[in-house]
Amino acid sequence: MIYVHIPFCRSFCTYCGFYSELLGRRDGAGAVTAGAFAEALSREFDMREAWQAGSPDTLYIGGGTPSVLPLSVLSSIAGKAAALSGTGTFSEFTVEVNPEDIVEGGHAYVEGLLAAGADRVSMGIQSFDDRFLRWMNRRHDAAQAVEAYRILREAGAGNISVDLIFGLPLMDDMLWQDTLDKALDLPYSMPDHVSAYQLSVEPGSALEKMMLRGRCSEASDEDCLSQYGILCRTLASAGYHHYEVSNFALPGKEAVHNSAYWNGSMYLGFGPGAHSYTVSSGVHTRSWNRPSLKEYVEAMADGMPERVRESETLTGEQLAIERVMLTLRTDSGIPEDELVRICGRAKVDRQLSIGNFARTGTAVRIPEDRFFISDNIIAEIIS
Ligand code: SF4
Repeated sequence: MIYVHIPFCRSFCTYCGFYSELLGRRDGAGAVTAGAFAEALSREFDMREAWQAGSPDTLYIGGGTPSVLPLSVLSSIAGKAAALSGTGTFSEFTVEVNPEDIVEGGHAYVEGLLAAGADRVSMGIQSFDDRFLRWMNRRHDAAQAVEAYRILREAGAGNISVDLIFGLPLMDDMLWQDTLDKALDLPYSMPDHVSAYQLSVEPGSALEKMMLRGRCSEASDEDCLSQYGILCRTLASAGYHHYEVSNFALPGKEAVHNSAYWNGSMYLGFGPGAHSYTVSSGVHTRSWNRPSLKEYVEAMADGMPERVRESETLTGEQLAIERVMLTLRTDSGIPEDELVRICGRAKVDRQLSIGNFARTGTAVRIPEDRFFISDNIIAEIIS
C-alpha cells in the first residue's frame, strides 16, 4: 500500500487540519513550486526503492488537493509508485479531487487521470448547500459539484466516492437530508461510496480560532446524533453497506486501501507529513516525514531523507490498542477471543450486557445504532 501526500491547496477550508501549503504562495521565504515538489517526491521514491510495498497493492494519492497538480505530475507519481510496487499496476488506485478542478480541467483532465491508472476518484463535495459551502470556505458551489460529478461519469470514472460533512453549526435535519438526497440524485448513477464525517474542531484550523473567539459554536450532540441517524437510514435504504463508522459503499465498492489500514496492513507514505507503517524482523515501526514542504524539498535534494523523517518502534501494547481502536470502527469488529485477551473478559462482558457490543459469529462489533458513540465505547474498553 502506498500513500502519497500532495501538500498543496488553493485555499484553506475552515475546518481542515491536514498539512498543506497554499499553491503559488508568495511569502518571500522561497515558496516551493509544484515542480520542485514533484522533483523531491521523485527522489524520495528513488531513495526508497528497496522497500516492500506490502499487500494489498494499492495507491492512494491524497492531500491537500492532488487535483491542483498537472496531469503530467500525477502520471509521473503513479509511474514511480507502480515501479516501486513491483507489479506495475494496483488493485486499487484512488486519487482525491476537488470539484472546481474537475470543472476547470474538464473531460480531458479526468481522462488523463484514468489513463495514468486511477480507477477510483474521491471527491470532496461536503455539502450541496451554498451557504454551508461558503461558511466552510470551499472554492466550489453546489452546481459545480454536480457538474464535476457529471464530467467524472462522462469521462469514464466508474468508481466515485464523495465526502460529506454533517453537524455544521445551524445545520438542521432538513438541510442535512437535502444534501444526502442531492448526493443520491447525482447524474447518471449514485456515488459508489460515501464518506460522511461529523464536523470536528481540528487543532490549528480556522474553525478552532473561530471557536476560541466565540464567533461560532458547535452543533449539539443531539443534533449530530439525529443527523447521523438520518445518514444511516437514508444510505441503508439506498442500498449502501455501512462498513465503517463514517463510510458507506454500494455492494463490492468498499475502499480496499482504507480497509487495509483498518486491518493493520503495512503502508508506505511519501511526501511531507505522510506516515508509513512497516514490519521487519518482527519490529513494527511507524515513521513519518515532518510536515514541512520546504524542509522536505531540501532534504530530498541533498539526498538525505532521514533529515525530515522521524520514527518510533511500536510496542506490543500500542499495537494491540491500535488494533482495537481501528477494528471496532468497522462492521466486522474483532474476534472476541482476541478482544478478551487485550482488554479482559469483564470489560467485554460489560459492553455486551449494555448493548454496546454485539456478537457476529466469533467476532464482537459495535452495532450500527451505537456507532455514533463508538469513540466513547472504545475509550472505555481500552482504559
Ligand atoms: S479540506 Fe481539502 S481542500 Fe480544504 S484545506 Fe483541507 S486539504 Fe485543502
